[in-house]
Amino acid sequence: MPDDLRPHPVTGTLFPSPVPPGTGWPGDPADASTPVALTPADVARLAASAVGTAELDARVSVCRACPRLVGWRESVARTGRRASFADQPYWGRPGPGFGGPDDGAVEVLVVGLAPAANGTNRTGRMFTGDRSGDWLYAALHRGGFASLPTSVASGDGQALHGLRIVAAVRCAPPANKPTPTERDTCGAWLDRDLELAAPGLRSMLALGLIGWDATLAAARRRGWDVPRPKPRFGHGAEVALGTPYGVVRLVGSYHVSQQNTFTGKLTEEMLDDVVSRL
Ligand code: SF4
Repeated sequence: MPDDLRPHPVTGTLFPSPVPPGTGWPGDPADASTPVALTPADVARLAASAVGTAELDARVSVCRACPRLVGWRESVARTGRRASFADQPYWGRPGPGFGGPDDGAVEVLVVGLAPAANGTNRTGRMFTGDRSGDWLYAALHRGGFASLPTSVASGDGQALHGLRIVAAVRCAPPANKPTPTERDTCGAWLDRDLELAAPGLRSMLALGLIGWDATLAAARRRGWDVPRPKPRFGHGAEVALGTPYGVVRLVGSYHVSQQNTFTGKLTEEMLDDVVSRL
């Protein structure tokens, strides 16, 4: 086997890292003709003109508008793979939203922070292949939103029901810390996610302060009615947002990061509680 090709853990198909669009990766929403955003203006234009979540996901998944994050995600994919995953290909692209039209109308949006370098950046699917995802999908499964209690790899049969997972920032950032400029640039993709989901949306779950702030900022940019002063984030915090289609509830949760789950700051019961309110 050529040194730079590795087998997908489910299908066994060989891929380089990062994975070129449209080459057969399970769940890859893009192909070679998908337009690539190279600047913040491109992101705004391509997000606003995406006609549905399938097109939005495709465009997100090939975005190259933040040079620092593109460099980081691709360097991890090429040469920075974790030893335990060294035999796997790395997606090395932005994480597209997961859950959408194929699984029925989106009634609930989950907004995370950003992909993990060895999680989504490896598997190509939100919260898939790391400890954070183990917690999140187990809770979504208990709450009836996910087919499986685990989410280990694209192509594993996991499916979401009426729920879609997106993030404030779609590329893995160094030290899990995107810059304000990167958050602003990527916010245009989130804006369009809110806009596309709005007609059938019932509630949103924001994971962590960054997810909370990003969701409120996107809601404000979309012209939704957001209380002033800005509602404070906390685990279990809840605020009603007015949209052109009715009221959407935003619920806050501590992020499912290992920092929170290992220390007991976030327990399964606490996560189940917020999921039950969606
Ligand atoms: S963080 Fe967002 S805007 Fe920046 S390159 Fe990744 S997908 Fe594009």
